[in-house]
Amino acid sequence: MKTLEDAPLIVIDMTSGLHARNKTVHEFYNLVRNDVDWRYYGYCPPQGNIDITRLGAGPEDEYIDGVTVVYARKIQGSVNREVVAFCTNARVYHKPKTDVFLRRTVWFKSEKVDCAYSLESDTLTDLSHYPFKFVIRLSHYGAALLGGQRYFKGQNPEFDAELLAYLASCKEGQDAMEAEAFQRGFTLEGSVPSDAVCEVSASHKTFVTEKGLPYLEAHHLVPGVDAPWNVVLLCPLCRRKLQYGTAQTKAQVLRALYKARQTYLEEAGISLKDLQALY
Ligand SMILES: [Zn+2]
Repeated sequence: MKTLEDAPLIVIDMTSGLHARNKTVHEFYNLVRNDVDWRYYGYCPPQGNIDITRLGAGPEDEYIDGVTVVYARKIQGSVNREVVAFCTNARVYHKPKTDVFLRRTVWFKSEKVDCAYSLESDTLTDLSHYPFKFVIRLSHYGAALLGGQRYFKGQNPEFDAELLAYLASCKEGQDAMEAEAFQRGFTLEGSVPSDAVCEVSASHKTFVTEKGLPYLEAHHLVPGVDAPWNVVLLCPLCRRKLQYGTAQTKAQVLRALYKARQTYLEEAGISLKDLQALY
């Protein structure tokens, strides 16, 4: 695998503002694992095919592998963008593809349309809870930096250096976290012990993956803290409750998880109230 420094890189600006009209509602799926094969399939806003020759592909190539893909989103009330996630070692296609087996559809003019994707990857680093944010300062670089809602490495060396330094620091934190999680008996990429259960309640039902393992999602209880004790395994429903539930629903899940990690949390000086305030 190429190092971050050497790999081709593309930034995708997911804020098109034309969602319903241009079927770009697919972008919603960019940051979510596909539940059929548990990989990430990303959509590129519809400004024509991705010119993958700018990523080092030949003019006849259908795709190129080993690309770093960075997802950015508009910051409310600002012209600037924020990096929300990135993939390393992704595949980028010249023309969007669809695959009916991925079972992702959107409604367009009262017709069901298969979601197209131009980017695919086994892993994704979600930075939405990462405490150190990277702001793409269009106020400094100009809106043309993200022209066509994409940026290719090499367009602006100053920006490249800034972004790569940030991604490297995220990657370091992530690698350390994965090494520690592995010692606990599972990896963040989803191989969990065959007897693992949702840490909110062992009674929560989930499904069994193709590998014969229970499907559980690793979640950082205290956002941004990279410690093995801070990783909890949750059933998909509990994970979503923490994201989209009401304050009351979140509090209920957090109470159970606080109990499960009480010794560590107390040692870290974090009360249940502190924890709840982070969600
Ligand atoms: Zn659960």
